[in-house]
Amino acid sequence: MAKQPMLKFVKIDRDMPVKRAAETRKEDFDEIYAEFAAIKAEEQASRCSQCGVPYCQSHCPLHNNIPDWLNLTATGRLKEAYETSQATNTFPEICGRICPQDRLCEGNCVIEQSGHGTVTIGAVEKYITDTAWDKGWVKPNAPRAEREESVGIIGAGPGGLAAADMLRKAGVQVTVYDRYDRAGGLLTYGIPGFKLEKDVVMRRNQLLADGGVTFVMNCNIGEDISFDEIRGKHDAVIIATGVYKSRDLTMPGSGATGIVKAIDFLTASNRVANFGDSVPEYEDGTFNADGKNVVVIGGGDTAMDCLRTSIRQGAKSVKCLYRRDRANMPGSQRETQNAEEEGVVFEWLSAPKGFTDESGKVTGVMVQKMRLGQPDASGRQSPEVIEGADYVEDADLVIKALGFEPEELPTLWDQPNLPVTRWGTIKAEFRTGATNLDGVYAVGDIVRGASLVVWAIKDGRDCAEAILERFTTKAAVAAE
Ligand code: FAD
Ligand code: SF4
Ligand code: SF4
Repeated sequence: MAKQPMLKFVKIDRDMPVKRAAETRKEDFDEIYAEFAAIKAEEQASRCSQCGVPYCQSHCPLHNNIPDWLNLTATGRLKEAYETSQATNTFPEICGRICPQDRLCEGNCVIEQSGHGTVTIGAVEKYITDTAWDKGWVKPNAPRAEREESVGIIGAGPGGLAAADMLRKAGVQVTVYDRYDRAGGLLTYGIPGFKLEKDVVMRRNQLLADGGVTFVMNCNIGEDISFDEIRGKHDAVIIATGVYKSRDLTMPGSGATGIVKAIDFLTASNRVANFGDSVPEYEDGTFNADGKNVVVIGGGDTAMDCLRTSIRQGAKSVKCLYRRDRANMPGSQRETQNAEEEGVVFEWLSAPKGFTDESGKVTGVMVQKMRLGQPDASGRQSPEVIEGADYVEDADLVIKALGFEPEELPTLWDQPNLPVTRWGTIKAEFRTGATNLDGVYAVGDIVRGASLVVWAIKDGRDCAEAILERFTTKAAVAAE
């Protein structure tokens, strides 16, 4: 009988790629996990029990064929594993690095449920495609035939780029417009290098350009070109602009200098640390934590990124204020642990009440202590103030990481008929991204609100399919 290559979870323990020691990794902005060695990837993939109904797959937004590529990896058929993996995911090595796997595929692995520790799906996914890049298997799009139709995509984040890739594969003429100087959206300027090194993103941008996608950078739609002009140039338009309006705090002292927005802080850091750009607000200390007592307000993944960036910039102390407790924070537990290892102190059940300052420069955060009260309508326990427990936390840099909202596109773009929800996100059809403006689609965070890279990829791919179907139907009607 042939030797069973899989189901090794009983004999082989779960193992992640080596994590760099906190003392070393906090000195730079490089990724913290090493790559699996081939033998380790095979061994870890072989732990999968090849479930008939794979919950990992049903909880992956892209429905990646995980059991198949694990099997192919375990049996050394890596090129086939790569082909299977890239068939459903435009950026597998990026998702392997930054998906919150504990909430998606890995969190639903049956082996995890049975107490053996999940199959390390994300790390294997990253290994497969990083190896494919090393071996030269990743090639630019070379459509069998060119099509006449053109699509304009506003926003070069993962949603826009995933759509660009699928459309270009089919021979469509694709132009991506973005107000930044580099493509990638939050992959480039939001997410820090210690989670996602930037050459991983830049090589993807280059691949798309090599496959015939035209990038028009430094082009702010609504300012440099009007939305109507873009619509007039293309047969279809995809809005993939993400959400960038930071939620703010209005309380005593909140206008003091030294209180900054997370996205500004992270963008400056990504530019300086990863691209060597010169950023005046970093150099003058506005977005630089070096030597400072830093307080980050918020408990999500953006807050974690600000905390860990501050550590790497050489802050004197780095504290996180979050109004609920650890069990109720929105950020990933894995990232919280990484932050703690690197020296971040979490002040749970703590909320800002105001800020102290000297001559208009922030010197501290007035903190009120909270406890969790009765569950609200959503079932989540509401934080309540504990009277008389206030204190002041020293701070000379305060970073607000309170979440993001969409910009007012109908106003900014002079498109009163562009449909938006009461939260300002664009109203678009589930699975196609179609809006009620003919030929206008929307994908990613601008539809979902602040979400995840993997969902933006899913939206981009679905939308590209819907547009291709539209073009095919139109061509068939014209030919009749
Ligand atoms: P974006 O990535 O935001 O891209 C939108 C693009 O549109 C940008 O390049 C922008 O410049 C451009 N644009 C906007 N308006 C215009 C205009 N008027 N004209 C021209 N161009 C325009 N998700 C994860 O899955 N894992 C993580 O670890 C993770 N970490 C995160 C960390 C931070 C700090 C942040 C802020 C988010 C994080 N996310 C993470 C969320 C994830 O980055 C987003 O969900 C995802 O990038 C959304 O993709 P998108 O294509 O919709 O938009
Ligand atoms: Fe898991 Fe994300 Fe990969 Fe899907 S794309 S298998 S959720 S890491
Ligand atoms: Fe393999 Fe786990 Fe997926 Fe089952 S749920 S197929 S064990 S990875």
